[in-house]
Amino acid sequence: MKSCCVQAGERFFASNYPWAMPIEQESLTAHLLNLCKKWGKITSPFAENFYVRSTSSLQLGVDAKTGSLKCDACGDIFDFIFIGNRLFFFIWRINWICATYWDTQDESEGNQLSFVSGSFDWPRNEHLEQVRTAFDMYFGDDPFLGPEGLTELNRQISELILAPAIIHDYIIDFAELFVLFHEIQHQIPMSQMGPKPSGVSVQLPNNLGCSSRRANWWIAELTHDANSLYLLLLSAVSVFLDKFGMTPNDAKTQAASLVCTGADAALHTLQSLEELRYGKIDLEAAATSSEFVRHPPSDFRRNALSLASYSLVTGKSTASLLRREFTDSWKTVAQNVASHMQVRDRLFRGYDIWRQTEG
Ligand SMILES: [Zn+2]
Ligand SMILES: [Zn+2]
Repeated sequence: MKSCCVQAGERFFASNYPWAMPIEQESLTAHLLNLCKKWGKITSPFAENFYVRSTSSLQLGVDAKTGSLKCDACGDIFDFIFIGNRLFFFIWRINWICATYWDTQDESEGNQLSFVSGSFDWPRNEHLEQVRTAFDMYFGDDPFLGPEGLTELNRQISELILAPAIIHDYIIDFAELFVLFHEIQHQIPMSQMGPKPSGVSVQLPNNLGCSSRRANWWIAELTHDANSLYLLLLSAVSVFLDKFGMTPNDAKTQAASLVCTGADAALHTLQSLEELRYGKIDLEAAATSSEFVRHPPSDFRRNALSLASYSLVTGKSTASLLRREFTDSWKTVAQNVASHMQVRDRLFRGYDIWRQTEG
């Protein structure tokens, strides 16, 4: 981006969020730009072409705001995205805590194979304290997010076994990128990115009983989820091919395992926030509830995304999934997603019980 456009973006951001930190102190902005550069040839151009900022300002809260701006110096029009950092911190903390589940390594002597398994005694107090901090920060009304619990969390991360630490690092990358690219889809939908319409389109089930206005909003959300995942898959495959030297098939399976697990981690953590606020809500009730006008419930988003993932990974239709036509690649992807989902379920269940007994 030209420096005049950056300055125009900076002025616009400051006029919206006068109490926001200066850009040098926005660790999340730098982190997200790095992730875009790290994860391939589709994500990296966004780091150069978007004006990205993040803030804990309560005006933005847990949302993101996208749009385009005209630079008053050169007249160029550029896109911007302003990100409320509470949701990202929440996803980050919850999913690092999940990594502490994998804490047992059996190394059989004489060969290099090592097996990592999960702990029976998990989650423990030190993990649940972190979950509490994550919820407090997300729902809190302090305009500045402090370092509460961070030293302790860093200690727990530093004690992780290497393999789960690396895998969680990648999964959290994709969880964060999934949310970022969902928001970017609101500004530049995939259908408008190239000369020809491309990307995935998603339908709602019939007889949902919601207004057509709401149906359109829901379809947009589900479509942005699916296309965010699609872009990340394409981009990550390029990294596994070029940097890790994998065969095309292995690169595709590896990328899909990590991207799909990351996307589900993001939506699952969103679901935990939703359920803490509104309780468990079924789809029919959500179709007319005032809380779900702009977006469908997260568990429905997760199901819709798993259908889209299946088609993207296997090239087959949803009908084939219902006939349980599983390819080897899909089996690997689905197993990975499920094993991480179970750990998060266990953490959230543990937290529910702990919260009630702690008062
Ligand atoms: Zn300019
Ligand atoms: Zn959205």
